[in-house]
Amino acid sequence: MFITEAEAVHIREGGAAEDLTRHRTLALFTESIVSLLSSTTFPQAMIDLVSLMGQTFPQAAPGIFIATAGSEGQAYSVLDADSGGLAEARRILGTRHFSYTPVLVGGHPPLVRRRLDMALMNSQETRIVLSINSGIHDGIFREWVKILTPAVVKLINHEILLNLAYRDGLTGLLNYRAFEEMIRAEHDRAKRYGTTFSVMMADIDWFKKINDGFGHQIGDLVLKSLAERLSRGIRKSDRAFRYGGEEFAVLLPHTAIGKAKNLAERIRLMVEKTDFVAGLHITISIGISEYRDGLSHYDLVKQADKGLYLAKKRGRNRVEVLKGVS
Ligand code: GH3
Ligand code: MG
Ligand code: MG
Repeated sequence: MFITEAEAVHIREGGAAEDLTRHRTLALFTESIVSLLSSTTFPQAMIDLVSLMGQTFPQAAPGIFIATAGSEGQAYSVLDADSGGLAEARRILGTRHFSYTPVLVGGHPPLVRRRLDMALMNSQETRIVLSINSGIHDGIFREWVKILTPAVVKLINHEILLNLAYRDGLTGLLNYRAFEEMIRAEHDRAKRYGTTFSVMMADIDWFKKINDGFGHQIGDLVLKSLAERLSRGIRKSDRAFRYGGEEFAVLLPHTAIGKAKNLAERIRLMVEKTDFVAGLHITISIGISEYRDGLSHYDLVKQADKGLYLAKKRGRNRVEVLKGVS
């Protein structure tokens, strides 16, 4: 193939370098989409993305902010929470209620300058904003956003589908189906690594009377409020589920029965003291069980259920553990 003299000059004087830059940029974009779609969870995908952006362009100090209708906002940023990160999350999310995940990229902590916000997604339900220091890399980030948007939309839609399948619509807690899968996984882990875990089953006492006396809507409010308090009362690694109607389950990884019992007592007391809706109080009964060699996950649920039944029989508003039952 012949090239003209003008083309030869173009290549000698930087055209090739420009091609190389374009090539690298494209590789970077591809890498970001691959990491976005192959991360195991949505939060991990966001961390990976911010990390890649921050490592490639440290001066841009990128952060990603997610506002979803009906749930807590999320912030992922290379900025330290105290050096501008929290303030920025408040500005973009328009609330003080969000989780803040700092993303470590090494090197000097980036400085915050004039920020440029770009929407990665902007639907009625979900708004995702990328924010960077403006001035140096604006062009490349704008291109990046264009390429990322379809992948992010795909990811969010997948997340929504998962939520529909595994979350309870009223309380937002994980549902029975999620419980079945997670207890199986926890059981496998404990068996393989020789660790333990506990299961807690809690049921509201005399809940029918609440519905009959105050109406179903108030009953729903109580369920929602209890779910929220239950989630807040346990560790991040523990999981709360709406097992059915007015019954809740909690999985406690790496927790032996003694600790599980303390936690159950604490939760029982917290519920007893709580003013749910204008002077309305409820109590709960709890049964717990701990994994031991030879017990299946069915056995564990059955045992916790028997504890719950005993707690009801012994007068309710109690925690019971069945000993020596399998
Ligand atoms: P116990 O102390 O023996 O558990 O008594 P209880 O009244 O709580 O138990 P029972 O099983 O007789 O009644 C459970 C009630 O929970 C009946 C049902 O209407 C109510 N319930 C179940 N799911 C919901 C719900 O989603 N919303 C409302 N408001 N009530 C619910
Ligand atoms: Mg009940
Ligand atoms: Mg019940």
